[in-house]
Amino acid sequence: MKGSHYDIIIVGQGICGTVLSSALMEQHQKVLVIDDGNKKAASKIASGVINPVTGRRIVKTWQIDTVMPAAVRMYQALEKKLGTSIVKQCNIINFHPSEQMQKAFKDRIAEDPTYLSTQPLPNTIAAAFEAPFGHTVIDPCWLVNLENLLHYWRQKLIEKKAFIEDVFDFKKLESKADHIVYDKYTANKIIFCEGAKGQENPYFKQLPFAPNKGEALLVKINGLDNRYIYKKAVSIVPWKDAVFWVGSNYEWDNYNDDPSPSFKEKTITALNEWLTIPYEVIDHIAGIRPANTQRRPFIGMHPVFKNIGIFNGMGTKGCSLAPYFAEQMTEHILHQTPIDNEATIDRFHILAP
Ligand SMILES: Cc1cc2nc3c(=O)[nH]c(=O)nc-3n(C[C@H](O)[C@H](O)[C@H](O)COP(=O)(O)OP(=O)(O)OC[C@H]3O[C@@H](n4cnc5c(N)ncnc54)[C@H](O)[C@@H]3O)c2cc1C
Repeated sequence: MKGSHYDIIIVGQGICGTVLSSALMEQHQKVLVIDDGNKKAASKIASGVINPVTGRRIVKTWQIDTVMPAAVRMYQALEKKLGTSIVKQCNIINFHPSEQMQKAFKDRIAEDPTYLSTQPLPNTIAAAFEAPFGHTVIDPCWLVNLENLLHYWRQKLIEKKAFIEDVFDFKKLESKADHIVYDKYTANKIIFCEGAKGQENPYFKQLPFAPNKGEALLVKINGLDNRYIYKKAVSIVPWKDAVFWVGSNYEWDNYNDDPSPSFKEKTITALNEWLTIPYEVIDHIAGIRPANTQRRPFIGMHPVFKNIGIFNGMGTKGCSLAPYFAEQMTEHILHQTPIDNEATIDRFHILAP
């Protein structure tokens, strides 16, 4: 059977493959997406939060002033295109865990109040938590409904005959001077968006991948306001109706991708100390974040195999970073415009496999 020719083949339909295929199709590229349907892919486990400030030092996250508006714009456009809800503003109520952190937030607000506010809590929320050290609201934060985004984008691709559910087989990939051949298909370029599996990719496994595992409990909490995210030792994130996603942890060593009893135990202890209203654990999920030692994306075309590229390395921040960089990668593919210095794979010395 004669195969088809594509402008771009994309391997993986997590958040990266989704937004990159969307950005390329916006530019009228003929795209084929191949995904193996792994139910434990990071994008299916993630809570979907876009949080502009992080850490004990309360710093703005890398490039947030640029990437957050770009992400919201792209998600809102996809929302219209797909006819489903994908993004909503959902501020974080950050409960201070200690007097020291209470002071750190106070000092930070005095110095630079961007993204922080001290608005009082509605009574029902104040009553639902033990909060001896007060709170700060992180504003604006956004919440991405990854389940809707991934599902409805996949349906759109299927409708356009641009999707195959299969495991990509590297033995069937050949790199030619000005195109690639994969099985019965040909394409001008192929871009790998495999998430943590990227560390096994023969063309890119030299990159300093350092994936880590994260887990979450899905917890029913009747009566808790689902217009906010709540954060202390763990985050409580609206998931569906009265169900909340509660996580997470970072496991770098000796992990598999199964939920662990120790995470469940620790998370239940944290909830018991924090929540004053009843809850019920209904599920426990785990996935592997495509993180790396530099905490910056891996984006660009292979220096030797010019038609083979990568769009990966989003670590803990796929929801905020992927849309902006998908547009940058699209421009790079179509017009050879440069990729951000800190995100391009040109910063590494990659050899042929
Ligand atoms: C517990 C947890 C919480 C998180 N919370 C957040 C959050 O709140 N906000 C945020 O921004 N980020 C969060 N993240 C990080 C986020 O999940 C990642 O940054 C993002 O999902 C990475 O997307 P990706 O498309 O690169 O990878 P993935 O989601 O892993 O997608 C890769 C896809 O490629 C497919 N694939 C791989 N190899 C092959 C192959 N050979 N053939 C075919 N298909 C293949 C996989 O099955 C998968 O579908 C969280 C992650 C975890 C684990």
